Formats: sequence, structure tokens, C-alpha cells
Amino acid sequence: MKYAAVTNYIHGRNIPARNGTMDVFSPLNGDLISKVPLSSAQEVDEAVRTGQEAYIGWSETPIKERVQVFYRYRDLLERYADDLAALVSEENGKTADEAMAEVLKSIELTEFACALPQLTSGEIQEVSRGVECRSEHRPLGVVASISPFNFPNMVPNWTIPNAIALGNAMILKPSELVPLSAMRLAELLQEAGLPAGVFNVVHGGRAAVEAICDHPGIMAISFVGSTKVAKLVYARAAGNFKRVLALGGAKNHLIVLPDAHLEMTASNVAASMTGCAGQRCMAASVMVAVGDVDHIIDRLGAEARKIVPGENLGAVISQQAKERIEGYITEAQAQGATILVDGRGATVAGKENGYYVGPTVIDHVTLDMKIAREEVFGPVLSIIRASTVDEAIEIENGSGYGNAAAVFTQSGGLARYVAERVSAGMIGVNIGVPVPREPFSFGGWNQSRFGAGDITGKSSIEFWTQLKKTTTKWNPAARSNWMS
Ligand code: NAD
Repeated sequence: MKYAAVTNYIHGRNIPARNGTMDVFSPLNGDLISKVPLSSAQEVDEAVRTGQEAYIGWSETPIKERVQVFYRYRDLLERYADDLAALVSEENGKTADEAMAEVLKSIELTEFACALPQLTSGEIQEVSRGVECRSEHRPLGVVASISPFNFPNMVPNWTIPNAIALGNAMILKPSELVPLSAMRLAELLQEAGLPAGVFNVVHGGRAAVEAICDHPGIMAISFVGSTKVAKLVYARAAGNFKRVLALGGAKNHLIVLPDAHLEMTASNVAASMTGCAGQRCMAASVMVAVGDVDHIIDRLGAEARKIVPGENLGAVISQQAKERIEGYITEAQAQGATILVDGRGATVAGKENGYYVGPTVIDHVTLDMKIAREEVFGPVLSIIRASTVDEAIEIENGSGYGNAAAVFTQSGGLARYVAERVSAGMIGVNIGVPVPREPFSFGGWNQSRFGAGDITGKSSIEFWTQLKKTTTKWNPAARSNWMS
């Protein structure tokens, strides 16, 4: 094993597994690289208790002091970016460039948190003669963040800097498939001067998540993962009267019109479907080809063939994921779809035990096929043919998900027409991966998001805080002209 067994991280201390462990493999080559604790309700309870103690001092620290930790954390992310990216690539399987992009995004997220004192200054007004009312954002207490495998560094940083800078104590439950990056983040927060107990990491799977949903000491939970688990977490945690924001899976449609710019569209769609091996909740999954766009599809095929596993295409997370993805392709083929580019059976010399799927483009997919409806989460693009723009919009609207949608055209009017009618939270015009950069917030619609608001940006301020309204009269002689 290249790395020592992962531990939980509670009150700044490393606590070895008590309830058994699970093996952690690198998708790049299938090597066993570590073991991860499978924690129980007991470890969650310990993390909550230490969080509650630490919360007292931390929430009383002025926000301008709290963000000093995140100025230092940001610099540490930058200083160790190469190492952090290498770790992401090793445990997740993505390419070095993709891993570095993830770390750079974490830096940007942290910079937003450093600006929180400027964004949360509250309001004050004289509401009656001699009577003032002020409102201020107050933290919630101990909160939890549950993250998926596909962005081991960035998704935890969607929540850590904002929730903690706003005065909360946090428990992170990372994906058990990628536990190593989370531990590096804990080390960097400690090095940045965050007091012990304000940030804790509890590893594990379903049992740990259920304990988080049930613990009365946890005030809010953010979840990022599949729709199936997002629904379970949302229902369970809300049933326990917690504030919950649960982001789920995706099935993103890119609508390509005949006047779309040939090279830009083909290269953008190819990059969107294959980036991070298609394991992005913002990845292109369906291209809705409107009218005669065969010239764009031919070019897309050529672009996809330039993407080579082990070179500019990373691995998928597990052998099980590889088999699931290949199963979708085989089933679509059996149902009559045309495989234009076939990524099944990919191997990489010297990394024969890695989990690779090559880029795959499937034409003439129809709505009755499973691949048209379900999230594949691999470097696979289904092309569905449509005769009109309205038919394309109807296809997009028919997907239960709603994370991202995009339109490719050179007509401003048509772009606007489509952007207004697609049912998704993040829209791209000639952009295949329309991730909003800070300060714009990240979040989908429909079955891609349960709860209110978005997970990053200004929206997250409302999620991680509650408003306290104080009405004051100091001068008994003031002739207030309202009931107060
Ligand atoms: P997942 O749902 O399998 O796991 C997410 C988290 O839930 C992990 O921490 C895992 O340990 C836990 N978990 C798994 N099964 C559970 C269960 N039965 N009960 C309680 N907890 C459970 O997701 P994943 O495979 O790690 O990540 C990929 C998914 O995440 C994709 O569907 C992708 O679209 C989605 N995702 C969505 C967004 C978004 O912003 N909407 C971002 C990233 C990933």
C-alpha cells in the first residue's frame, strides 16, 4: 500500500478505524493504495460533540478574523497545488491537467469565502422614531457536508470555506472511494490555523451518512452525489427537521443547430463528453441533433478519436463502473443505435489493471432506450435526432434531470429562444460545460437538486446561516410612532 491506512480526523487528531475498513484502489492502474475506515454512529457522535465545543469559540470570533484562516488556506492550496493534483489523479483516475483544474477551482472557491465579510454586512434601519432594527447573518452550529467521488478536492471545497468562514463547525464525510484528498485538506486547514474541532472528517459509507442524517446535533446537511442517494438523504434529514440541500445526478442535453460553428461545436461537445472521463455532473450526455447536422457529427467523431485513454483521457472510478458503462453501450447497440466511435474494451499499456473506457459516440439513439434516459457517467455521448428546435426542447424538457443544458448556434435569437425554454439550472450558449464561475452560484433544477438555493456563491450564505433580527430602543423619551 502506497499510503498508510486513512484515519478519521476528530478534534485535530487522527483516530484509526474501529469498525472495519474498505480497500482503496487507484483507478489508473488498479493498485491497492490505502484503506478507509467504515465509521459508525459512534464516530459521528464524537465528531458532533467536538464540533459543538469548538463552535462556541469559533462562532464568537469576528468574521474578519475567521477569514484570515482562509487567506492562509488559499495560499497553501496554491503552494501544494502540484501535490494535491497528483493525489486527486491517483485516487480518482482523472488526468494531471484535469486534477490541476480542480485544485485551481478550489482556490477560486476559497477566494470567494475570503470576501464573505464584504457580502454579509447585514442591514440596519430606524423603523420607528428612536427604534432601530438590525438583521445579521448568524451561523447554525455543527453542519455536515457529504461528497461524491468525482471531485475529491473541489466538491468538499464547495462547502468547507463558506460554511466555516460563516462561523459553523463542520463534519465532512467524503466518498469512501476517494478519502485521501479530504485528509490533505484537513492538514492544510490545521496548518492555516483553524482551531481543532471546527473541521472534522468522518469516513465511511451508508452507515456514516445515515448517522449524520439522524444526529440531533447536526443543524444542516449539504449532499452531493447521485439522485438516488440525494433523495434518501433529503427525505431522511428533512424528516429529522434539518436544513438540507442535496444535489443529485444529471443527464445534460446539448442542442446542436445546423448553423452552429463547425470546429468550435465539435471540439466543445467532444471535450464536454470526455472531460474527467465523462464523470462530471456537467458532462454532455445527449446531443440533440436538429435537422441536417451530419457535417458536425462527422467532425465530432474525428475529435473524439483524438482522445486516447491513458493520454488525454483518464480512468473511470472502478471496474464496476467500467462494466456498467460498457453495458449501456452494448444494450443501445442491441436496440438498434449506431456506434460511431466505440470505447469498449479500452486498455492502456503498462496499466492493464486500470479502469479505462474510450470515447464513445452513439448515433440514432431513441427515447425508448435506457441510455437516452439514465445517467451513464462515462465518456459516452448519445445522439438523438430531432426535426425542429421545438422538438429538441421537448426532448430536453422530458429528462427528469436539470443540471445543465446547452445550445450551439450562431443565431443570437435562436440561442435566446432555446436558453429560455430548456429546464436546467445552468445553461451554456456555445459552451459544453457551463459551470458558473464565482461569484455566480452552482446548482441544478428538477431531479438534480432537492432543497432550496444553490451550493456555492451568494446563495450559500443563506444556506449556511440564519438571520437574527434585533429591534432596539435606547432612549425612553423617544416618541416612537409605531407599536414598538
Ligand atoms: P453516490 O450517490 O454513490 O455517493 C455520494 C455519497 O453518498 C458518498 O459520500 C457515499 O458514501 C454516500 N452514499 C452512497 N450510497 C449511500 C446510501 N445508500 N445511503 C447513504 N449514503 C450513501 O455518488 P457518487 O457515485 O460518489 O458520485 C457520482 C454522482 O454524483 C453522479 O450521479 C453525479 O452526477 C453526482 N454529482 C452531482 C453533482 C451536482 O452538482 N449535482 C456534482 C458532482 C457529482
